[in-house]
Amino acid sequence: MSELAWDEYQRRLREEDAIVFVPVGAVEQHGYHLPLGTDWMMARYMARRVAAKVGGVVAEPIAYGATSQIRTGGGPHRCGTTSLNAETLIALLHDVLVGIGRHGARKIAVIDSHFENRFFLDEACHRAQDTLALRGHEARILKMLYAERINPETMAAVYRGMGDPPGLDLEHGGVLETAMMLYCHPELVDMSRMVDEARPDFPPYDVYPVNPDWVPASGCLSSGRTATREIGELLVEEFVGHVTDAVRSEFR
Ligand SMILES: [Zn+2]
Repeated sequence: MSELAWDEYQRRLREEDAIVFVPVGAVEQHGYHLPLGTDWMMARYMARRVAAKVGGVVAEPIAYGATSQIRTGGGPHRCGTTSLNAETLIALLHDVLVGIGRHGARKIAVIDSHFENRFFLDEACHRAQDTLALRGHEARILKMLYAERINPETMAAVYRGMGDPPGLDLEHGGVLETAMMLYCHPELVDMSRMVDEARPDFPPYDVYPVNPDWVPASGCLSSGRTATREIGELLVEEFVGHVTDAVRSEFR
């Protein structure tokens, strides 16, 4: 979107009925070996890949995301993790969606990459659709966490040879994200900085202020040591397929 002139963007919306993709991520620590922008860069990557398949336009990503939670993203306390509060995120995505819809986009796909965003993006989509409908615009909005589903065979391949796999609950900065970044943005991964730590054993509740001792020193909830580019390719291509299928079934 940002690389198009306005009239070309207008033509894509009005003549091609283009799907507009809005990636939403997070700026959040992912250990020593992955960059702070891991989530938003992966959301943008997914949006670009799917847009290329279906002929869509990718809007600027919303890089910042909802407050990092200690049991899913390592918490808000670590340097670099820079989050939006819920009201800000809801208002920001609402305004972007309304801005896109009022100019004629009838198909908008919000691509999420950060678990904590979930319900706030739902709220923003609801409100934006309401706002657009009240103003006479007929936009439909699809929202999807790109990693919402993983085939069991893929997970078996990802964890092959690991005696005690961490499971998805502890995958922050672990094998999955490390492998995907090795495939999509290898220049930003430094495998030499990986450390081996005991996995956290979280209680089934949260406390505020957060207790930093709950999270390993690196910020990762499990080790990405066994990640490879090949595992990343397997995961990413599956997710690209799932998002493409979702978009095609709702918009074509
Ligand atoms: Zn992440």
